[in-house]
Amino acid sequence: MIPRTVFTEEHEQFRDTVRKFLEHEVAPHHAQWEKEGQVDRTLWTKAGEMGFLCPQAPEAFGGLELDFGYNAIVDEEIGRTGFTGIGWGLHSDIAVPYIVNYGTDEQKDKYLRRCISGEVVTAIAMTEPGTGSDLQSVRTTAVRNGDHYVLNGSKTFITNGQHADLVIVVAKTDPNAGAAGVSLLLVEADSPGFKKGTNLDKVGMKAQDTSELFFDDVRVPAENLLGAEGQGFIYLMQELPQERLSVAISAIANAEAALGWTVDYVKERKAFGRPVSSFQNTQFKLAELSSECTAMRVFVDRCLELHYSKQLDVATAAKAKLLATDFQCKLLDECVQLHGGYGYMWEYPIARAWADARVQRIYAGTNEIMKLIISREMLKDG
Ligand SMILES: Cc1cc2nc3c(=O)[nH]c(=O)nc-3n(C[C@H](O)[C@H](O)[C@H](O)COP(=O)(O)OP(=O)(O)OC[C@H]3O[C@@H](n4cnc5c(N)ncnc54)[C@H](O)[C@@H]3O)c2cc1C
Repeated sequence: MIPRTVFTEEHEQFRDTVRKFLEHEVAPHHAQWEKEGQVDRTLWTKAGEMGFLCPQAPEAFGGLELDFGYNAIVDEEIGRTGFTGIGWGLHSDIAVPYIVNYGTDEQKDKYLRRCISGEVVTAIAMTEPGTGSDLQSVRTTAVRNGDHYVLNGSKTFITNGQHADLVIVVAKTDPNAGAAGVSLLLVEADSPGFKKGTNLDKVGMKAQDTSELFFDDVRVPAENLLGAEGQGFIYLMQELPQERLSVAISAIANAEAALGWTVDYVKERKAFGRPVSSFQNTQFKLAELSSECTAMRVFVDRCLELHYSKQLDVATAAKAKLLATDFQCKLLDECVQLHGGYGYMWEYPIARAWADARVQRIYAGTNEIMKLIISREMLKDG
């Protein structure tokens, strides 16, 4: 064991609270929520009461202003349990930080307290039916008309899409300016002309509400522009490393847990009159996966440590996301194999984790896009 050094005693106390909450408030219901396609909405307000949402939000706006380690603990505990229906990470680590980092005091005052309490669930809508990886090609437009923007377009695959009360929409305020024409707008879900599509039927993460969103002449007050017009693409590039670190954190936590479930299983399960753990193939697989887990854990923890001091650069965050999610999927595939046919049964956590993990290599920028980011940094002049 290599001792972890990224968390304090306070962090670990917080972890205990999160862990107990998940045991009592989520474990008994998650399978049912998978059937319903979304978690119970009260889970958000319960989490708010417990102080699990937006730990970094500033004190001036009702937050605790804690470090990112608290977000990481929530991500780890959700990763460890495989309760992937819970969209707190998207809210706390990804969407709300845009309001914290680029919002006006009025916007923060209007929304942050309710984001912290779970009364307002957030989403971020970048991807469109026609474009995902190529963000600057979004076709949703926001045309200024007096004191409003008129928003038209559609988005897809949006996490928290059904529960969302407030969506950060990536739109073109100048369709001819490429990346320089991209802006971010805070759009309230009850705005006339804003419609949520059906909850999408996914291969995994079945309790997570993921939706299409439609904007038909939605009048968004000009004061809901987030940051400056035309700066949206830059803001996205600045915030994506934290999103990618969160994905890496959940990936390694889930991989470690899955390896633990597999160790338990192979000790119990017998074949040819012997425990599956007695076969050399099993032992070698476990040893290889455990060694890789150790290396990955050290790397991701070091990235987290760098992020505490705002030193995690874009390419390193991309490396963390690429390596941790590729490894998570590889490990889960091996662990399913060691479970035999039971590994393919939905009632087994390993089967769910295997299905849930696949998207980790696709969202938050595909792993191919991570390779582009890393190689661009390597090949740049000077
Ligand atoms: C469950 C789920 C939740 C999601 N949540 C959100 C969310 O909350 N908000 C949001 O905005 N989006 C979300 N997404 C969307 C996700 O970010 C996109 O699916 C992803 O960015 C890929 O975009 P795409 O699907 O359009 O694939 P495409 O961009 O069409 O890519 C198709 C393939 O081409 C490859 N490719 C593309 N460009 C290049 C290139 N230049 N070089 C090499 N290969 C390339 C890709 O890597 C991929 O393998 C979610 C998706 C899923 C499935």
